Amino acid sequence: MCLLTEIPVNPSPADRYRKQTLFAPLGVEGQALLRAGRALVVGCGALGSVIAESLVRAGVGFVRIVDRDYVELSNLQRQVLYDEQDVADQLPKAEAAAKKLRRINSEVVVDPVVADLSSQNIRELTREIAVIVDGTDNFETRFLINDLSFDRGIPWVHGGCVGCHGQTMTFIPGQTVCFRCLMGGVPEPGSGETCDTAGVLGPAVNVIASLQALDAIKLLSGRGETIEPVMTVLDLWEGTFRRLKVGASRDEGRCAGCLTGERPWLSGAQAARSAVLCGRNAVQVTPASPMLLSLAELESRFAGSGAVTRNPFLITLVTTDGEFQLTVFADGRAIVQGTEDPGQARSVYARYVGM
Ligand SMILES: [Zn+2]
Repeated sequence: MCLLTEIPVNPSPADRYRKQTLFAPLGVEGQALLRAGRALVVGCGALGSVIAESLVRAGVGFVRIVDRDYVELSNLQRQVLYDEQDVADQLPKAEAAAKKLRRINSEVVVDPVVADLSSQNIRELTREIAVIVDGTDNFETRFLINDLSFDRGIPWVHGGCVGCHGQTMTFIPGQTVCFRCLMGGVPEPGSGETCDTAGVLGPAVNVIASLQALDAIKLLSGRGETIEPVMTVLDLWEGTFRRLKVGASRDEGRCAGCLTGERPWLSGAQAARSAVLCGRNAVQVTPASPMLLSLAELESRFAGSGAVTRNPFLITLVTTDGEFQLTVFADGRAIVQGTEDPGQARSVYARYVGM
């Protein structure tokens, strides 16, 4: 009897985060700030899955996930939020992630956005966002995030991983140099390793993503001052962990963005975005102006052209000859698999969807 009365019938909501609030540098105060925190995770592949899950489990109040792709079998080796059912259902990653994350922590507002982050939508998608976390696989999007970050004063946490090595750094406007200061410009295509040429191992991605999630938690819980202006570079296979010091103040920035406020990616002047998707033998085709397609109407138009499947978010056509797989989202955007030639992808799109 005595024992029974000691067991709480309804565990206090605080119990969920008890192990976290016990950690003194975070504490109850930091937890309250996390609950009021708003994060944007850009890209929900391998990095984004771990980042989003960490933030949602930690109790960040609002987590928006933007991703342009859908779940495929080859993702499951490392993208921890997805399972075989998501592949069978051909769910967009943002929606599949949100479904899983809401089951993990229903207290968090998870906002999935199936879209390609662009100069047209980034302002709206970062409104009232306190930190942006990089789960992307391409430099164009990172330069766009960097422009927005330093234009609007929103810190962002960069991460990248290929093979069994990766790097991460947190950029804080007014405190650190920016990504463009470090990189100069977008690397020439083919100049670096990609997941396509070098592969990628799950454990390496998980470490980089965990470091990113930690910095996001520091920023959101009011402990951003503990973040050092260093690029952390690690190679899990070799077992090396390096922290490279970079200029700590804005004055040391040398890029035109930091010196003159020029933001070519944000203004759209640098909009020549690579449409070839990393490691996919696929090209993304984006309509010239935003549109809202009727997937049901497309389904009847696709009839006779091959095998068609549809869910509430997208429709897929595998052409009769099996040469192409065309996946069209409700916003008119499409992913054409079976080519790395943007011209050929556009003509496939024009043939089946129209322009
Ligand atoms: Zn700069």
